[in-house]
This record gives sequence, structure tokens and C-alpha cells, in this order.
Amino acid sequence: MSDIIQLLPDHVANQIAAGEVVQRPASVVKELLENAIDANATEIKLIIKDAGKTLVQVIDNGKGMSVTDARLSFERHATSKIKAAEDLFQLNTKGFRGEALASIAAIAHVELKTKQDEDDLGTVIVIEGSEVKSQEVSVIPTGTSVAVKHLFFNIPARRNFLKSDTVELRHITDEFHRVALAHPNIAFAFYHNGSDLFNIPEENYRQRVVHIFGTKTNEKLVPVEEVTEVLKISGFVGKPNFSKKTKSEQFFFVNQRFIKSPYLNHAIKSAFEGLLKDGYHASYFLNLTVDPKSIDINIHPTKTEIKFDDEHTLYAILRSAVKHSLGQFNIAPVLDFEHQSSLNTPYDYRDKKASTPAIEVDRSFNPFAEESGIKQKTTSHNTGFKSSPTASWESLYVGLESKANNSPSDFSQVTFESESKNESIFSDSSIETRKTTFQLQQKYIVSTLKSGMLVIDQNRAHQRILYENFLRHITIKEATSQQLLFPLQLHFTPNEIKIIEDLKADLEHTGFVFSELSAKEIMITGVPVGVPESEVSIILEQLISDVENDVPDTNFSAADLLAKSMAKSLAIKNGQSLNSTEQEHMVNSLFACKEPNVSPTNRPTFITMAVDDIEKKFM
Ligand code: ADP
Ligand code: MG
Repeated sequence: MSDIIQLLPDHVANQIAAGEVVQRPASVVKELLENAIDANATEIKLIIKDAGKTLVQVIDNGKGMSVTDARLSFERHATSKIKAAEDLFQLNTKGFRGEALASIAAIAHVELKTKQDEDDLGTVIVIEGSEVKSQEVSVIPTGTSVAVKHLFFNIPARRNFLKSDTVELRHITDEFHRVALAHPNIAFAFYHNGSDLFNIPEENYRQRVVHIFGTKTNEKLVPVEEVTEVLKISGFVGKPNFSKKTKSEQFFFVNQRFIKSPYLNHAIKSAFEGLLKDGYHASYFLNLTVDPKSIDINIHPTKTEIKFDDEHTLYAILRSAVKHSLGQFNIAPVLDFEHQSSLNTPYDYRDKKASTPAIEVDRSFNPFAEESGIKQKTTSHNTGFKSSPTASWESLYVGLESKANNSPSDFSQVTFESESKNESIFSDSSIETRKTTFQLQQKYIVSTLKSGMLVIDQNRAHQRILYENFLRHITIKEATSQQLLFPLQLHFTPNEIKIIEDLKADLEHTGFVFSELSAKEIMITGVPVGVPESEVSIILEQLISDVENDVPDTNFSAADLLAKSMAKSLAIKNGQSLNSTEQEHMVNSLFACKEPNVSPTNRPTFITMAVDDIEKKFM
């Protein structure tokens, strides 16, 4: 039989390699930014059009390339960063594979402009699908500009596979955040479709974190510093009461390279143990410096995973450093106390309800009524630790911390909105209060059926009811809005604002009224009827978190997600007592739904037990 093995032509090999290096426009962004950093740039500009589908361009003021290097840089395995295998074990650069430019050039139209300081003239190379179209000499400033156009122009399948602009831009922004956070000593600018998303000078690390995540971040940062023989740690963790429902503020950098490490993440989690509520995540921005010899970054093609020689030691040092910082800033004891009290609240509430109905349905409730009943300061302990009134998780318990709750509160300077006490979906007075239901464990509503017994999960059932309600409002676009006494000002990161902007129309259809929606803040003047003001920031944060985690694809319906998210935020929680009118109303509303059987997230809302089954149990 004749020989059948042959070497792949270069352009085919490059295209295959490209698949590994370039998954989406954000991968191009990452590679180009890293090349600029490796070239010792002090200023880097990132220019994006159509979420990178039309253009990704990075301009730096780094050392540039000679004519020969400019041409060579597009060859596969062409790198100036390592010369011998040993160099792999002491990498001080981001790149080392010499694959990025070759790969990108194989699947896009690339224009490279580059000039070294010592040269008078620079080089301009145009290359499309690995084919050099032109090479010229030109007058250009020192540094390098790489423009990548029409990504995946020759691989339609990959191009079609790209997600919506919103999603792709989010990936790009994530990469940008990572690189910008790792290099506060470099000035960055980031433009998308002509508008500037970031323009940040050279600055210290705290300023960088604040520039990227918004001014409200400043007060939540607790410094972490530790120097040991094997590891240097510097950076910040977020105070626990500012923790988020998303993991969007978790950053490890090892030798200025963003990495993902579930193991080290666990070290932080354990340092925060007892300080975070369920479902909330610590924020951290931590730089670890280790001997490059002690790590192996070669194990993952996109290099966000890393292998440490001695992970156990790192874990222990990291955990104790973070614990120490939390303790030193006197957060741990305070928060422990807060945490406990929050957990106890439902029970205080229940006890109190032995003499008063569970939820007072105030049919004369008027959101414009006198202020005295609306705002109420709790006793404040002078902890020297400020809680923001908008800190989201505290207000989860808002409805429960009502005025009759006389246990001392531990939040300092927190204003509780007790109006939510009046907020009830159960305001239909026509329901007869004959007792056919009861509540079990403040979690289930039990009712009888002709054929047996019905057990409803109150939280899931209420989610279903609210979900269908919101969805209806969004679709028919005529929800009523309740005007706020004072406009509500909320701060979000530009990324988060973008998400809200995308959902603005749908949010308005549920009853939200925005008087401002700008790069950094949101002003809300109206909310859907039945939504307490204190819940607004939680709803929006939950929504952002849901959108982020759901990484919506093309079939994604914004309206559906919004309705789900709002239902989740507003549904009656487990642990809340319901009186019999409320229980009945819940049952009736649930069975008036189109799909009463499942919650919006497809979990059963109720179970039934037939008399037969019950009888069997007695046998
Ligand atoms: P790697 O970064 O792994 O070396 P790349 O394909 O990303 O591989 O780049 C190939 C080479 O091109 C680099 O080693 C570097 O010498 C040169 N190069 C790429 N981008 C720049 C830049 N912005 N400034 C100066 N040199 C660059
Ligand atoms: Mg590179």
C-alpha cells in the first residue's frame, strides 16, 4: 500500500490551531492586549466595532517590531519570548506560544502597523486568511497597532456560532477588566462603536478597582497584604455585607495573569465562613506573586488555569491572610452578629404573630401617605462600620423587621422600609375565610381535595403566580406603575447598566419608570404596583445576575427572563406565616394559572396524596 500521510499546508494547520486559540472576538482581545503588555506599552487603546464581529483593534505605545519581525510575527511558533525549553519555567511574559497572530491571521483580515523607536519608518502589513496581501513602509508612531476585521470570514460555521452582540461584548468587557485589573500601571482606553466605555489613567490598584467597578466599590474594599517566602499577596476583599449574588467580582491574578482556581476560591470562601448569606459570593481582587518556577501555566490553551507546586501551602496562607484582614477591619465579629440576627428574625416574627395576624393587609395602603410610618430608624450600635441602606441582602428581611419587632437590631444607620408590611398580593376581600387550608412549617400550604390531600410549596407557587402575571403585563404592555415619593438612585457598573438598558423596554412594561439611565447610574421614579421600593435594587441585581449566569443565546427571551427573575425576587419566601385568607388566595391564584404544576424554573409547585395512599400507610 502506498504512503498516505502528508503534512497539512500551513494555512490549514493555522486554521486548525486558530480554533483552539480563538473561540470568539474576546479571545482576540485577550491575545492582542497581552501582546501589547509584553511589548512594555504604558498606554493601550482597545477599539471594538459590533462587539468585535466587525473590528477588534489594539493600539499600543510599546517597543514595536523591526521589518523582519513584523513579517515573522505571523508565522506559527514564531515568538520572541522564549528561546529554549527552560525558559518555559520562568515566564515573565503573557505570551510564549507564538501562535496568536498566526492563528488570528488565518481566520480574519489583519492589518499590522508597527514601528520601533530607533527606526524612522514603520511597517504596514495586510494579511487575509494567512495570505500576505501587502507590505509597505510608512510613517507611523512608535508602537504597534493590530486591527482584526471580519473575524471568521472564511469559517461561516464559526461566525454563525457567535452569540448576540450583547453577549460577545460582555465577554470582551470581561477580558478587558481582567487585563486592566492586572496592570494598574498601564493606562487603558476602550471604545465600542465610537463611544468610550473606559478611559483610565495609570493609577494605584485601589483606584483601578474603583474605576472598573464604580465609585460605590471604594467603601467596600478591605486591603489584604501578606508577604511570605513562597507567596506575596496584595489586593482587596469586599466587606461581607457588600457581597453579590454573582461571582462577577472574583479575581485572582498570579504574576499579573488572570487565573481561575476553584481551589484557591475555596480558600477565600472558607475565610468568609459564617459571614455570607446563602447564595451570596465574596468579592475579591487579589494579586498573588510567586516564583515563576513554581507554577506551570502551560496546561490550558487559553491559560486561565494554572498548576502550583505547593497548592496546600498557598491555600493556607491565602485563607489566613484574608481572615486576618477581615478580623483586623473588625468586620468578622460585627457581621457574625448581624448574620445571626437576620437568621433569627423570622422566628421573632413568628412569635410575635401569636397575638397578631401574620400579614396585615392594609387595604387603605397609600404609597403617598405620611412618611412617619414609612421610614423607621433602627437602634444603631456604634460599630464604626457603615452599612449602606441599599446593601442588598439586608433588605431581604425588610418585611420582617417591621415596627413591632422590638429585638435590638444590629445594623447601624440602616433605614428599613416598613411599607412592605402592607404589601400583599392577598388583597381580595371577596374570599371567604372558611378554614380549608393550613400552613405547615411556614413553608407549605396543605389543603384537602375530594380524592385526598394537596401540599403546595408556597414559594414556588407564588413564583408561578407572579411570573404569569409579569409575563402578561410585559406582553400586553399595560402594567400600572406606582410613583415613588423620591426618585431612587442606584449605581451599577457600566456592564450591568448595559444589561438593564437592553431590558429597559420590558422593564417599563412591568411598571418601572426610569428618569435616567446613564453610563454610571440609574434613576427610578416609578415601580410596578406591589413592588416595595426597598426591593428594587434586589430585583435589579437578581436580574443582572440571572442574565449573566444564563448567558442567553439567540432563543433567549428577555421578557421571560425578566418575569422569572422578578418572580423569584418578590415571591413569598419560606418561613413566612400566611393567614387563612392568604393561604386560600394563594391556592386559588395558583390554580388560575396556565401552568400551575410547575414553578417558572420547572420544579413542582405542589404534590398530592390520594386517600388510597394514605390508607396504605395505615396498613
Ligand atoms: P507570543 O505572544 O506567544 O509570542 P504572538 O503570536 O502573540 O505570540 O506574537 C508573536 C510575536 O510577535 C511576539 O513574540 C512578539 O515578538 C511580536 N509581537 C506581537 N504583538 C506585538 C506588539 N504589540 N508589540 C511588539 N511586538 C509584538
Ligand atoms: Mg501573544
